[in-house]
Amino acid sequence: MATDSYGRRVDYLRISVTERCNLRCVYCMPAGGLPVRERSELLSFEEIELFVRAAAREGISRIRLTGGEPLVRKGIVELVRRLRAVPGIESVALTTNGSLLARMAADLASAGVDRVNVSLVSLDPAVYSLATRGGRLEDALTGIDAALEAGMAPVKINVVLMRSLGQDPMTFARLTLDRPLHVRFIEYMPVGAGGEDGCDPVGGSDDWTQADRVANDEVLARLDSDGAGAGLGPLKVVDPGDGPPGSGPARYYRFDGAAGTVGVISAMSHMFCADCNRLRLTADGRLRTCLFSDDEIDARRVIREGSGADLRALVLAAVAAKPESHAMRVGTIRRMSQVGG
Ligand code: SAM
Ligand code: SF4
Repeated sequence: MATDSYGRRVDYLRISVTERCNLRCVYCMPAGGLPVRERSELLSFEEIELFVRAAAREGISRIRLTGGEPLVRKGIVELVRRLRAVPGIESVALTTNGSLLARMAADLASAGVDRVNVSLVSLDPAVYSLATRGGRLEDALTGIDAALEAGMAPVKINVVLMRSLGQDPMTFARLTLDRPLHVRFIEYMPVGAGGEDGCDPVGGSDDWTQADRVANDEVLARLDSDGAGAGLGPLKVVDPGDGPPGSGPARYYRFDGAAGTVGVISAMSHMFCADCNRLRLTADGRLRTCLFSDDEIDARRVIREGSGADLRALVLAAVAAKPESHAMRVGTIRRMSQVGG
């Protein structure tokens, strides 16, 4: 397995399959969307598979498809099937807004998606619509039901908290009581907020401010007191080995007797870099060594012009180039929807 300069084992690859999305979440995208790339700039399914074959030979065993919204890319079920068949790939997961999941979950599961993360910004239909700029809460909820019915496990719910949206963490935590759902609160991150190209603020996380970020310690304190008030008792820490598989940078907790867990991902208040195990491949074929770094490696050129050996060397070079930490940097050239989260 590939190990980076800081002794971290890298076995996980996030692949953004498209920059397009059918929503425009306020923390992620500008209201008008982003310029659409030429088709020739995007990696084809054959090219993605070629890269994954090389990465798998260097120890990548888990893939997550993301975007943009991965389910808007035509043929995504076929891509899952192809990647799942690559020797060495043990898991293909998905991060989605869930809006198209109700109609696709069964096919995705039979193609080999085992795990799914569904983003859910609010359980209030009006706030959901406002925060996603037009999305329907009902669609995401039926998507979550369909993922459970299709046997995907774990099903995780990603909640980005913004103070200006006034979300109540307890409403989400209640989802974990009866069904095996794993709610993760994610600190609002300044990805795409500015950047070294001096891009103008155009919405999405370009509008990020410290004041709008809800620190995870505050979330846990609120859940503890609201849980006690509702007779659920305090949150109990879940040992890392007992948390949902594919825990990544989250820390997990549970209300007594709950079927699911509550997790926090503290990108900003507690740096999660020490456990970083991943590389990212963008839809236009750039390899990123860190969510917050604009250093990119042009994998597309090597996929299109190089040999399998060149590609494997590129994967190792990317692992070796991983920085020790994101050093609380604010602002990247690419937006979250262009990196894949
Ligand atoms: N469209 C899919 C979705 O929403 O799940 C996948 C792509 S989205 C960019 C991946 C993840 O990034 C989602 O969980 C989303 O909530 C999260 N995200 C987007 N913008 C963010 C921000 N500024 N801070 C923290 N998380 C963010
Ligand atoms: Fe689309 Fe996901 Fe970004 Fe929301 S977070 S705009 S669903 S890519």
